[in-house]
Amino acid sequence: MKLQVDHISKAFGAHRVLDGVTFSVDSGQMVGLLGANGAGKTTLMRIITRLLEPDSGQVLFDGHPMTQNDLSQVGYLPEERGLYRRMRVGEQALYFAQMKGMERRQAEQELRQWFDRLGMTAWWDKPAGRLSKGMQQRLQLVVTVVHKPSLLILDEPFSGFDIDNSAMLVRELTALRQAGTAILLSTHNLQAATELCDKTIQL
Ligand code: ATP
Repeated sequence: MKLQVDHISKAFGAHRVLDGVTFSVDSGQMVGLLGANGAGKTTLMRIITRLLEPDSGQVLFDGHPMTQNDLSQVGYLPEERGLYRRMRVGEQALYFAQMKGMERRQAEQELRQWFDRLGMTAWWDKPAGRLSKGMQQRLQLVVTVVHKPSLLILDEPFSGFDIDNSAMLVRELTALRQAGTAILLSTHNLQAATELCDKTIQL
């Protein structure tokens, strides 16, 4: 899998946020997007995932312009994603997995394995509103990766993570990278980015 971000520019009114941003992410690579608040990291991720149109430039997925169809192979973890607080955790995870095109049975099998792996099994039947912040973050990660995306896009995944969860995240991302997933993550933490990533892109 190869993601190519090719001369992407975007302005909101007179405010130019992205100016000819160009880089690529290959299978098995982890790439860090660096930039201060307001540098355009979230805007770029929305453009890659087709939530926003660029003013110019293109996003290529395996060499062709990214389509809605390709998004079934993408996992996107936005900075803030709401959970349905009254819905039970397992049911909710199943719902998100099925939105990504998974069959319910297979989704449940994979989800149960992830829940086991991340110490969440006891939460399967509890309402999501009762999850601690840390458990919510684990759930968010699981629903982002359960459909085995070939490209993972994570917006500030370390912000707000406590030490245990950060270590868990580094472990899981490293395993996914080793399995060939292409990973793009944003952070304003230069140290985390340089330690973890194969290359960094300054916005
Ligand atoms: P942060 O780390 O604070 O999330 P970021 O690098 O992700 O920052 P963006 O959220 O992409 O930055 O925002 C970049 C700039 O574009 C900001 O100045 C923001 O106010 C502006 N912006 C983003 N979305 C819109 C929009 N829909 N309309 C107008 N301005 C916008």
